[in-house]
Amino acid sequence: MTKRIVALAGGVGAAKFLRGLTRVVEADSLYIIGNVGDNLWVFGLYVAPDIDIVTYALADLWDDERGWGLRGEGFQVRDGLRLLGLEDAEWFNLGDRDFATCIFRTHLMKRGYPLSRVTDIIRVKFGVKSKIIPATDNELVTQVHTLDGWITFEEYYVKHRFSIPIDGLRFVGADDAEPAPGVIEAINSAHMIIVCPSNPLASIQPILSVKGILEALKANRNKVSAISPLVGGRAIKGPADSMMSQLGYEPSVAGVAKLYREFVSTLIIDTVDSKEQQKVMEEGVNARVMNTLMGGVNDSVELARRVLSG
Ligand code: GDP
Repeated sequence: MTKRIVALAGGVGAAKFLRGLTRVVEADSLYIIGNVGDNLWVFGLYVAPDIDIVTYALADLWDDERGWGLRGEGFQVRDGLRLLGLEDAEWFNLGDRDFATCIFRTHLMKRGYPLSRVTDIIRVKFGVKSKIIPATDNELVTQVHTLDGWITFEEYYVKHRFSIPIDGLRFVGADDAEPAPGVIEAINSAHMIIVCPSNPLASIQPILSVKGILEALKANRNKVSAISPLVGGRAIKGPADSMMSQLGYEPSVAGVAKLYREFVSTLIIDTVDSKEQQKVMEEGVNARVMNTLMGGVNDSVELARRVLSG
């Protein structure tokens, strides 16, 4: 039997890593548990940014330069909506084929299909062999607290380009969120669990906030490795570093270890952070040092190989 690998995934960093991982393991032995905290209703459609990035990346259609959407996209629908004066089209971008994915998802959800079922249908249509399971089928929305009150993470990220101060983070709906079918079973039957290089607060914590997921991971802690999304104290892309410092965590590999120590036994840190190895160990987490920068697919393959060899 092929050994099951489970990955916890946000968006960009996860997509980069997973397209390497799927080249070194049997793709259908990989179960990806995806973040839903960024999901939002916009244009009257249900958009699942992180899950779509991962799906497109594994279908080899992802626009990795832009970081979201499909390569070679047109934006006629968005432009048409702008001309019509729809406010959503002023701040949220979706390419034309991306619109099609979201129309299809919304159509099925309005017919009563849970998100996990729709996600599975979409990944199969895109030819993706690995399972992609949203952490929950329930509505769970990540929000940040700003000077003007609580706003959704997507507004903070996309509309405000994470340039405004924040002093709070919450996951609305988490108390009632049940894990989607297959999530706990995947964790409990995994040979290895990998936390992808993803924003610890905005991509991984929403997954952990779903009932039972953190407990299942803790019970399997010896199998869980995480790849630090911070390299030299900085995020490669996005607000992970500034969110950590604004919300009271040291933006460093030691800070990541502190956030993950309950459920992660090994943290993979970049060679530039090798001097921090001891600080990670002081958090009770093993540290493995390697190149974690994924400039292209070859780097992702190499990183995946080394992570698996641990
Ligand atoms: P968001 O963009 O902050 O919402 O977070 P995502 O969960 O989508 O993932 C982005 C994270 O991936 C960022 O914190 C990046 O630092 C990290 N990341 C992106 N590319 C790389 C890479 O090549 N190596 C490592 N180690 N992390 C990366």
